[in-house]
Amino acid sequence: MKIKREDTYDFVVCGGGMSGFAAAVSAARKGLSVALVERTGCLGGTATSAGVNHLLGGRKINEETNEHIRVVGGLFDELTDYLIERGEAIEPNSIDLSFNAFGWYPRMASGVAFDELALKIALDEFCQNSGVRVYFNTMVTDVEMDGRKIQSVIAYNKDGFIRLRAKAFCDCTGDGDICSMSGNEMLKGREEDGCMTPCSLEMHVENIDTKELVTYQNENQSPKLVEIIERLKQEGIWKFPYEIFVAIRMMKEDVFMVNTIRQIMVDGTSEESVSKAIAAGRKENVELFEIMKEHFPGFKNAKIRRVFDYIGVRETRRLVGQYVVTVDDAMSGKKYDDCVAATTYNFDLPDPLKPSYDPMMGDAKRPNATRKHVVIRIPYRSLLPKETDNLILAGRCISAEREVLGAIRVMGPCMMMGQVAGTAAAMSVKTSNFNQVNVQELQQELWNDGVLDPDQLPFE
Ligand SMILES: Cc1cc2nc3c(=O)[nH]c(=O)nc-3n(C[C@H](O)[C@H](O)[C@H](O)COP(=O)(O)OP(=O)(O)OC[C@H]3O[C@@H](n4cnc5c(N)ncnc54)[C@H](O)[C@@H]3O)c2cc1C
Repeated sequence: MKIKREDTYDFVVCGGGMSGFAAAVSAARKGLSVALVERTGCLGGTATSAGVNHLLGGRKINEETNEHIRVVGGLFDELTDYLIERGEAIEPNSIDLSFNAFGWYPRMASGVAFDELALKIALDEFCQNSGVRVYFNTMVTDVEMDGRKIQSVIAYNKDGFIRLRAKAFCDCTGDGDICSMSGNEMLKGREEDGCMTPCSLEMHVENIDTKELVTYQNENQSPKLVEIIERLKQEGIWKFPYEIFVAIRMMKEDVFMVNTIRQIMVDGTSEESVSKAIAAGRKENVELFEIMKEHFPGFKNAKIRRVFDYIGVRETRRLVGQYVVTVDDAMSGKKYDDCVAATTYNFDLPDPLKPSYDPMMGDAKRPNATRKHVVIRIPYRSLLPKETDNLILAGRCISAEREVLGAIRVMGPCMMMGQVAGTAAAMSVKTSNFNQVNVQELQQELWNDGVLDPDQLPFE
């Protein structure tokens, strides 16, 4: 392998999804030279490339006041406030909860729907303004180790193979690629059979009569249109393995992100599996759309706006790090001395083979099912691999039992963890060792930067 170029930084972040973006910008703002390496041509990952234009987990409804309040501060707040002010995202407090197309469970309505292009541009600008060097269309393919430390990552792009050296690295690939490449223990899927929760190739649909759709859902107390789907199944029209309609209104009133499709037995870390799923997902979305158009309220004049080319992956590898957050920890609201982040989002990890069933929630077909909400704290150790001293991980595959990731994987907590990683990088750059970060100082720094104090989290 011939290396065409070598660049050196303080901190290299691999993967430019919402967690990688937050890691890179927060480290650069603290004075580090930072590279952000992204295999596609935009930042945002699932939020942009996969069409999931809806940030969950950063706001929450206060049951007493019915106001959406902030549970993730820092960069999440800064970015969403910036977009909302410019009319490029929807303020959750402006949503009429009695007529709600932004999430069918009242408590799920706290997402922030945004304009995809506007977010991409904002992410570019935040990086440019903080001095992050973004490498687009660049895939990290390998690591070069010296004992317990990564010396450099090897990446591939149009220039050929390049080497990026740094004192510290962050794995925000969503799949834990860098942790895996550097020899850290990872698990994938269910322990009994390795199966992972379904993937979804997203479809955006326009020209929906939102009023007609939502009126039907409200009047029939049927947010997921289960009775229509049941009838279609009996008539032999609906042949898919999922039995619920899932869709969220986007910025424009007539445009919905339809993530009804649930593709089972897909491995997001396998090229062959992903290639097959993308081709099958395109076709299935069109078949699904034709049925929706004919049988779903509000869809009569609808058109497909876009089927995405990047498959939405909810689960692949997860780290077995210095601490594994267990379901018992999550359910008991366990506190940690090294707590650096948290999620108040609900468990959301559909069964790998029965996509309309969520083992932590029960039957998702039940309209307006009451979802259990807990505060799950995230200790610093769950971002740290066991074998590599200058590597930290943030995002949907931190060290936790897989069911817990259902609550952690949404974008608010992912950005919070990214900000923790970038802040810790600034504190570890002298030692090149994340284990030597003084966690109390890290917590203090995070509070100073407006990332919420986990001891003060609401909804306890
Ligand atoms: C269908 C679906 C619907 C969802 N709905 C919501 C929702 O409504 N709201 C919400 O908040 N969350 C939702 N989620 C969850 C959430 O979107 C993701 O879990 C979250 O965005 C993950 O962020 P991340 O930064 O950890 O990873 P990703 O978004 O997966 O980003 C990883 C990035 O790393 C890049 N990358 C990967 N490997 C490499 C490599 N080797 N080299 C270089 N780059 C690499 C990828 O291209 C990508 O840009 C949904 C997820 C799915 C799949």
